[in-house]
Amino acid sequence: MPEGSEASDSGCVLALVEGLLAARLEGVNLSTGAAPPERFFGSKIRPQAGLKTGRAYSETEPLVYSAACRKIRPQMPRFRESRVSATANVDPYEIAKFEALAERWWDPHGEFKPLHELNPLRLEFIRARLPLPGARIIDVGCGGGILSEALAKAGADVIGIDLAETPLRVAELHALESNVAVRYRLESVEDHAAANAGHYDAVTCMELLEHVPRPDLMLGRLAELVRPGGQLFLSTLNRNLKSFLLAIVGAEYVLGLVPRGTHDYERFIRPSELARWARGAGLTLRAFTGISFDPLTRQFRLSRDTGVNYLAHFVRPGAPANPPAGA
Ligand code: SAH
Repeated sequence: MPEGSEASDSGCVLALVEGLLAARLEGVNLSTGAAPPERFFGSKIRPQAGLKTGRAYSETEPLVYSAACRKIRPQMPRFRESRVSATANVDPYEIAKFEALAERWWDPHGEFKPLHELNPLRLEFIRARLPLPGARIIDVGCGGGILSEALAKAGADVIGIDLAETPLRVAELHALESNVAVRYRLESVEDHAAANAGHYDAVTCMELLEHVPRPDLMLGRLAELVRPGGQLFLSTLNRNLKSFLLAIVGAEYVLGLVPRGTHDYERFIRPSELARWARGAGLTLRAFTGISFDPLTRQFRLSRDTGVNYLAHFVRPGAPANPPAGA
């Protein structure tokens, strides 16, 4: 199976590079040791984010860390825990980041510009594997609805769920303005899967797994939503030196493509991890496809290089993947 490049980063050189970068990115003046100014999200590349550690996330992490969230960013809007069941696999700090930026979601030149630029490629990837007209699709972690709307425009019957309230409101308004029928709900994937197991022809979950405490468990819930013979489409970021340099140093600090603190290197996911979790959830891997960014033309394109951003396609064994219309 084609799996992404997983740079086997070695030894002291990398540790040194990482240390220097971490200090630089923290804004510490390396010669004077002066403290950094406060940043937008205030998050940082954690010094313990060892570039060569095999497992970046922890299987013992709590599913919700609200206490930690308030400690880190007391000024962040409070996450409405009461709206979400205790079993939700969520980091309230992440939700707060997306809440704070919600109004900018559909600004093609704003903080979500990369999502707008990626979207035609994601659509192309999905459309090549699933006839969209009439397909029943759930877009998990839909945010402001960039992909949900595009899928609905292509004829799919789409519902989007997310745990951030303001982006969902933005999504609803935008769908109204665009005259596209999409249903949006503030609901956790756990709650939705409990009531709608096996209900969807396809599940899409883009740029979300790297924002949750337990992506492995999330994958299990996503798989439950897929009907036998149905499909799961994911996108996330690989974890290696190249993705650290491009997705964090490059995109957040050098090119300013996304706000600093958007991503946490430790939560990036290797294709092999994704494949393992999906296998554990009873899914079969069909494809990994990379998304490459050309810094000169500043354009994304589908590629064989899964080293940084990549898309994944899985199917749930069972009935034919694409039953003929009317079947
Ligand atoms: N999938 C969309 C948005 C990606 S941004 C797109 O690619 O266009 C990540 C989204 O995941 C945000 O809207 C955030 O609120 C949402 N999110 C983060 N943790 C979540 C969780 N545990 N459950 C559902 N949504 C979550």
